[in-house]
Amino acid sequence: MEWDVDQRAVRGEEGCKKMKVKIIERSNNEIRFNMSGVNTAVANSLRRIVISMIPVMAIEEVIFYENSSIMHDEILAHRLGLIPLKTDLKTYNFVSECTCKGKGCAKCTAILTLDVEGPGTVYSRDLKSNDPKIVPVYDTIPIVKLIENQRIRLEAKAQLGVGKEHMKWQAGLASYEIVDNSFNFFVESYGQIPVDELIEKAFDVFIEQINEIKDMLKIKN
Ligand SMILES: [Zn+2]
Repeated sequence: MEWDVDQRAVRGEEGCKKMKVKIIERSNNEIRFNMSGVNTAVANSLRRIVISMIPVMAIEEVIFYENSSIMHDEILAHRLGLIPLKTDLKTYNFVSECTCKGKGCAKCTAILTLDVEGPGTVYSRDLKSNDPKIVPVYDTIPIVKLIENQRIRLEAKAQLGVGKEHMKWQAGLASYEIVDNSFNFFVESYGQIPVDELIEKAFDVFIEQINEIKDMLKIKN
């Protein structure tokens, strides 16, 4: 994915008129870059948006049909919620903004099922999704251990959310250090979306927020 900050609409906003970004190092999930021409407010806003405002999928509701494991339903549901899920932001809407009006449909909700019998360890890879794009980022996250004659059978609904609501929806982390009036950023994605998309989305959210404030204050461009 191309990531060209110079073309972003944040140009022209106070505090980032001559924004320049130089990528120092990158991999699929991590990136280091230097950002100059912005003030601390802009840099810190970007950091906070990455941590708390980027939507990703996580399990939000679990229907238990059978659970004879040692783990209570609530604890198991909590553990399932914390499994990072690969996220497709182009297909899914927030439930609250979906045409189904919160009921849950294919545009806002992915269904994952789990049906495992002991003995053995239940792993994240045992979750079977109705959408091949919404699957656990890692296959080997242990969920619970089962002994003989124990069984778990459940259906889980995964939906979009943001980190400020619950950390299970946190898309990654971001930090920076100030070096000669510029900012050396480090951003890591937790794997739900690639780090390039994470930063791209962070700028989109930033612009949306600025526009919302402008609307509220009735400022025209
Ligand atoms: Zn829906």
